Amino acid sequence: MTPEESSAKARAFARKAADTHESNPPAAKMLYLKAAESYNEAAGLTSNLKERDELMEWSEHFFNLSKTCVPHAAPEGMCGAEAEEEELVLTEIPNISFDDIGGLEEVKEQIRKSIIYPFEHPDIYKHYGVSAGGGVLLYGPPGTGKTLLAKATAKECGAAFISVKTSGIMSKFVGESEQHIKRVFEEARKHPRSIIFFDEIDSIAGRRADAEGFAKRIVNELLAQMDGVDTGEDRYLVMGATNEPWEIDPALRRPGRFGTMVHVKEPDGTARESIFGIHLKHRPCKKIDYQTLSALTEGYSGADISAICEEAALVPLGEALTCSVRRDIDMSDLLHATNHRSSSVDAWYSDAERMIKKYGDSIVI
Ligand code: ADP
Repeated sequence: MTPEESSAKARAFARKAADTHESNPPAAKMLYLKAAESYNEAAGLTSNLKERDELMEWSEHFFNLSKTCVPHAAPEGMCGAEAEEEELVLTEIPNISFDDIGGLEEVKEQIRKSIIYPFEHPDIYKHYGVSAGGGVLLYGPPGTGKTLLAKATAKECGAAFISVKTSGIMSKFVGESEQHIKRVFEEARKHPRSIIFFDEIDSIAGRRADAEGFAKRIVNELLAQMDGVDTGEDRYLVMGATNEPWEIDPALRRPGRFGTMVHVKEPDGTARESIFGIHLKHRPCKKIDYQTLSALTEGYSGADISAICEEAALVPLGEALTCSVRRDIDMSDLLHATNHRSSSVDAWYSDAERMIKKYGDSIVI
């Protein structure tokens, strides 16, 4: 597909959306999302930077318009189950790319190979008889960028990002949880391409959920839906994230299911420098010594570093509010914030070792 073809497709969706905006907001919403996706896809296809920015602006414009499609008091053409689906699934066109994620280069490469290339070149994979289906399970300590990675993956392959509220999936009523899973995949099929993302997937497909009697039913439905996933034909893929991989039902971790397990670790020294860079980039700063900050935060997660930058910014912000003097964030603010925060990752490793031993699991940490 060329950028012109994708743009033409986007315009057609946008026209249809405008026609149905008043009469059927839920349908218009879907059409605006499709327009946004097609512009996003066109942006990914063009090498002209100015054109890419313009296409991204259009994509964002139609994505914002989709949010204005509020159903009427008695939603037209939308039954109760669909209304419920709205809460269960959140669809967005992500605007975060791999460049906005510091470090994790090996993980990004692994994701390119297992998701992005098969998405971009299904014909080549088909030609060589290489099947690239199945889900990808991101695991590791909290705050290391698993959700960011899943969003950026969707952006990198011009797909809608469908994130599933795992807490909403569970239901004690027989058959209801399975219906929820079915609806998630139906939502995915409405888009030209999508990434379905189950955060904290252990809560629906883990040993704990099993104890409560949900897991078997949910896992079976998930497997049935995923068995139908073949990147050659279907244009959606499943990603899951968990901080507790040992909790995931081993049946889900087989090849063709969540066969690709990707360990997302805390950032190394160079990655920490770039994460500081990413989180300070849009803030007024002076004389930042990234090497020192990186050296002081060994073992910290990306989320810890993001919190340090936020905390450091609060100091000059407070001064600006009280003294009306606007100064830049400097090293003293960052050092102060660093001293007040410890790594949130250490505790994870001791828990992980204990649990892996307990279950006799073979997960690598
Ligand atoms: P996880 O899903 O692993 O718990 P998230 O992806 O939700 O973690 O990350 C939480 C926040 O931490 C992000 O919104 C971002 O601000 C920051 N963060 C984590 N890892 C990175 C990274 N590698 N680069 C930039 N920011 C990061």
